[in-house]
Amino acid sequence: MGKQLPKELFDIFDGHPFDGDHCFLCGTVLTASNRTVEHVFPRWLQDAFDLRDRTIHLLNGTLIPYRNLVIPCCKQCNGIHLSQLENRVKNILLDEEKSLNEISDQDMNAWLSKIYIGILWKELELSFDRRNPDAGRILPPTVMSNFRMVHFFMQSCRKSMTFHSPHTNFPNSLLRVECRFDGAYGRFDYLDNTDAHSVAIRMGKKGIVGLFDGGLHDMIFPDFAKHQFNEKPLHPAQFQEIFAKLTYKSMLSVRVPYFGFLHDERDDNYTVVLLAFDDENMSANAIVIGADDGPITMVPVVPDSALDGPAYSDWSQENYARVLSMYTGAPFDLLFRPPDMVATTLHDEEGNFVEV
Ligand SMILES: [Zn+2]
Repeated sequence: MGKQLPKELFDIFDGHPFDGDHCFLCGTVLTASNRTVEHVFPRWLQDAFDLRDRTIHLLNGTLIPYRNLVIPCCKQCNGIHLSQLENRVKNILLDEEKSLNEISDQDMNAWLSKIYIGILWKELELSFDRRNPDAGRILPPTVMSNFRMVHFFMQSCRKSMTFHSPHTNFPNSLLRVECRFDGAYGRFDYLDNTDAHSVAIRMGKKGIVGLFDGGLHDMIFPDFAKHQFNEKPLHPAQFQEIFAKLTYKSMLSVRVPYFGFLHDERDDNYTVVLLAFDDENMSANAIVIGADDGPITMVPVVPDSALDGPAYSDWSQENYARVLSMYTGAPFDLLFRPPDMVATTLHDEEGNFVEV
């Protein structure tokens, strides 16, 4: 019992040095014979959306071309586990006839996690390299602990895992949307936020938004998409707005998901169960239930307070407008009119969805 993750899994929380000499996925020490690099944005995606020479901003302000955004990876993770995951996702993403619903939640989550974590990994590595190696590479503990859970879930591409949540299909909120084309916005967009643990990618007509929140948003707002845009294709500006809304909402969350991990040694499968959402001040984020010599028989009881009192603190239109401005590039003064009016591209004055 304790707060540690199962020992067979790579736990980035466990004093890991982001030194470029460990596989980002399994933690193996890299040597001349097993060292490879993994492209954070896979090459097939770079080719399909002309990203190779385009640049992306990292948190510390570094501009880096997509083609150079690589992280250390061992041969086995790269050539087997990730390559199988990439193939499953690519076959659906690049096929106009296929729908995002054909990608399983588990794959979708692992794939989004890899990109989100890959960027964070690169940022940690770059700060590790700098003149002052002890400064600047520690993310705030809340970011790190969520990063740890996202990293754990991502390992479902290399270890057999089954996920269960009593409230939703998957213990993270994953939104798949159809998008429309507008030349002014290009065919590709990547957005993320490490405070909100949110990420979004628009690729041609397909868009994905992920919140690594244990599925809290999906549980409390099951009809969010229907209510927001009635399942109509989104204009790229509307996609950004949806991301800003979900990101700001997620920042307001005062709940932390608690997971139980059950490892069955007979088939080496991990069952990951969302146990409860509880107050963020409880500070634990993982509970290992395990006996080394057999199947698991104990489940701890954690009070579920998500449905008992507000799970989010109060929404401020002004603060939301700041987040919206960050992701749309529109000036705050244009978006916000005191005391509480925020411009939207989603609805007209009667509340009907707008087809931009
Ligand atoms: Zn590896």
